Amino acid sequence: MMDISSEVVNALRQILPEESVFYPLHEPFFNGNEWNYTKECLDTAWVSTAGKYVDKFEKDIADYTGSKYAVAVVNGTAALHIALELAGVEADDEILVPALTFVATSNAVTYCNAIPHFVDCEEKTLGIDPDVLREYLQKTTILRNGLCVNNQTGRIIRGIIPMHTFGHPVNIESLCAVANEFNLIVIEDAAESLGSYINKKHTGTFGLMGVLSFNGNKIITTGGGGVILTDNNKLAERAKHITTTSKISHRWEYCHDEIGYNYRLPNINAALGCAQLEQISQFIAAKRQLYKKYRQAFQTISGVKIVSESKNNVSNYWLQTILLDESINGQRDAILEATNDAGIMTRPAWMLMHHLAPYSKSPRMELPVAESLARRLINIPSSPQILLTK
Ligand SMILES: *Cc1c(COP(=O)(O)O)cnc(C)c1O
Repeated sequence: MMDISSEVVNALRQILPEESVFYPLHEPFFNGNEWNYTKECLDTAWVSTAGKYVDKFEKDIADYTGSKYAVAVVNGTAALHIALELAGVEADDEILVPALTFVATSNAVTYCNAIPHFVDCEEKTLGIDPDVLREYLQKTTILRNGLCVNNQTGRIIRGIIPMHTFGHPVNIESLCAVANEFNLIVIEDAAESLGSYINKKHTGTFGLMGVLSFNGNKIITTGGGGVILTDNNKLAERAKHITTTSKISHRWEYCHDEIGYNYRLPNINAALGCAQLEQISQFIAAKRQLYKKYRQAFQTISGVKIVSESKNNVSNYWLQTILLDESINGQRDAILEATNDAGIMTRPAWMLMHHLAPYSKSPRMELPVAESLARRLINIPSSPQILLTK
């Protein structure tokens, strides 16, 4: 019998056939108006902090997601930071964060001098498990003056940041119900899930605010960029204001009415984003097609399955992922080594948050599912241009 890492390489080779080619995990694909729109910025010298593409990008994203407002910012991490600040997160608050996430989710909490409190995931969605969360909060918190207080630390648990892992929607409706019971603010980290829906409603539009990222590896890119989504016009206005140095609009006066941030998205990045968004349905179709091909290729390998969207959800299939059976989780590193040696880039899920030095002392529940998933998840090449050509 062939060893499992050779079987995985062979399965991937069915879709990624060129042995002399290096297949990265995810590369941007520029196949539309990117040159036209960015050239216009250069020709008119509107490259920086103002220009028509920022307004257009915000409107296009709002239309696409069905959010009333979209405020463009310099990256997804900044979007999370501002969303938390506007939600009223204070120093020493605790914010519930999945242990399985990219570090930006935790860092944004820390930027507010608040403390991430790590919670476990479910295998079905790879996101926070609402039932385990409810039980945990029932056991470990009390409601005092309408606020959820951690019995052990005495600190207020102010909110929760559900994250849609690799584009697969978390069970956000149940999480919002739990948040409601315990009076928690919901900020959705939808950095990876542009184009993903739960019961036909776009991810990032369930909580008080949601954030998107347009980093170079995301489903569409602005080079670097992010958006805050909200239906609340006061929050949208405040987000615009404090991300643009809190300057009061005036013909010549530089008056800033509070301490703001220089977090705005430059026009040239927004131009790139407008061109990219025009192609998103093509990208998503290619990713879904790629998922089907991988599913087929992995069907015959026992102990390995491709991660699929769950019922009533539509995933954008941003990062294709295989999940190893518990029985072969010891093979993960051998598989990573064999695939990368073959020129096929793969990587494990992020190191869990509480295993990172800066978060090793953060409060957390037992995290058996996140620990298990971290040993078994492997991301595989996912660029749309694996199936699309220029
Ligand atoms: C990419 C990402 C972010 C941060 O976005 P940047 O634009 O890179 O700052 C936040 N959370 C998650 C889950 C991400 O994948």
